[in-house]
Amino acid sequence: MNRINIPFLSLPALCIVLLTATGIAGQGVRIARYWAGKKAAVSFTFDDGSPSHCTIAAPMFDSLGLKATFYVNPGDAEWAEFRKLALSGHEIGNHSMTHVCPFCIVTDPAVLQREVVASRDSITKNIGVVPMSFAHPCCCSFSDRQIRAYVLVYYPVDRLCGEMYLHPDNIDKALRGELDTSQYHIQKDWLILLAHDVSDPGNRDGLRTTLRYANARQDSLWIGTYANIGRYVRERDSASLEVLAQTATNITLRLRLLQSMRPDWYTVPLTVRIPVNADTVMTDVIPDGQTHLRQSLVRI
Ligand SMILES: [Zn+2]
Repeated sequence: MNRINIPFLSLPALCIVLLTATGIAGQGVRIARYWAGKKAAVSFTFDDGSPSHCTIAAPMFDSLGLKATFYVNPGDAEWAEFRKLALSGHEIGNHSMTHVCPFCIVTDPAVLQREVVASRDSITKNIGVVPMSFAHPCCCSFSDRQIRAYVLVYYPVDRLCGEMYLHPDNIDKALRGELDTSQYHIQKDWLILLAHDVSDPGNRDGLRTTLRYANARQDSLWIGTYANIGRYVRERDSASLEVLAQTATNITLRLRLLQSMRPDWYTVPLTVRIPVNADTVMTDVIPDGQTHLRQSLVRI
């Protein structure tokens, strides 16, 4: 077991879980598809920095203890209000500096730098948090690989159009793994809702209805920000999980991400499922290069 003797604890994106229980089965240990073993995920995203995001949408989420993603345009942002949302734990993402339309045909490097990079720096300065996701303006970038590649140099995840409709039926589709992935969706069981101004009664009521419907299904549905779920998916899909040592009562795991994945970006805990007798226990593992004991242990 030379591997244990090398200084792997100092490598990025690596951690060890020490779990003590009775009846551990090393075979079958795996990373859960979604955090805490949820069956599907949903992200509520809001574009264009409408004042109604702060006065109407965010309070709905706050009243339920849930978090949403608000995409602002730094060239025209109401910083004070959105700073409050960030302090409440909501995600403030980047929707480009000036909302260039159509964005997918931009080729001028100076324009890309302004819209993708300078705008990120502006959000960092004005909000106090580095944005972890970028929403392409005008929803046309699904067809442009070069622009997506440029964006993903500066952000761990980007958002295209997503599912447009705030409707409970889409929650059900996600839970059944039946979302239409043909063009926009990243996963058939990750619903990405997109809204703009929610001040008119129709949009406001649609949001409230859909949010309540999702909230009532939290036992199987992960309601999270776009950046958190997106990073979980990328971590999950690239991580390698090894059982380094195991007895009937102890197990030592090693979780590694790709060396190319920036450790300051990919910090979302991954849930690991460990068979114990006829049950499964789950523990959250943060891939930040440190050793962690279990953070939570949930018997299901
Ligand atoms: Zn927009």
